[in-house]
Amino acid sequence: MKKIWKTIFYIPVFLFRIVLHLIWGLFKIALVVFILLAGFNLYAQNSDSQLAKSITSTKNDIVRYLTNNNTNVTTDTYSYYTGIKWPSNTATIYIGSTNQALHSAYQTAIQNWNDTGVFTFTITDDASNADIVASDTSDSNSEAAGLTETERNVLTNQMTHATITLNSYYLIENPYYGYTTDRIIHTAEHELGHAIGLDHDDSEISVMQSAGSYYGIQQTDINKVASLYTT
Ligand SMILES: [Zn+2]
Repeated sequence: MKKIWKTIFYIPVFLFRIVLHLIWGLFKIALVVFILLAGFNLYAQNSDSQLAKSITSTKNDIVRYLTNNNTNVTTDTYSYYTGIKWPSNTATIYIGSTNQALHSAYQTAIQNWNDTGVFTFTITDDASNADIVASDTSDSNSEAAGLTETERNVLTNQMTHATITLNSYYLIENPYYGYTTDRIIHTAEHELGHAIGLDHDDSEISVMQSAGSYYGIQQTDINKVASLYTT
């Protein structure tokens, strides 16, 4: 009798054991993965190494992917004071960008502004004496595709120096964000716009829309620069 029961229950008990074994195995793997990820994260937060940076940027990509599918980097960071401008409608600019695509985007953007006739940038090789320094960085922690910082003489509200930084992390390295050559040039034109005294304008089609890369220099932008430098 005992033997019959044993035979009947043998298969379900055997299967139950296998399932239990599998669950325990999966739990152990999950625990090891969790400890490894926590360790990586701790290391990334406490180190400045290249590996730490790539761990952080991979983590940011995963979090960004899981939390939203918004591929628009809608902001740039800039400093602006009403009425701020250069003493005249001309400034020297040093292109310090070593990334070839960004370097040529700067050149095209400068040429496009110069073609408007309302402002003239002169490219210089002298970084330390340039009015504007244009460079790039790769920063996954910044939400901004571009950054412009301006310094001014507070008494005259005239610009004394400007620094433009394009973020290659969004513009070049991650096709996910969809930056075409045109949008990269528009971003450079937009930051140059800040560097000569323009604020954001979301009320019309403008290179100065806060989204910053969908439109090139428009007549309204030209008019604004013209009026800024004639008053
Ligand atoms: Zn902007």
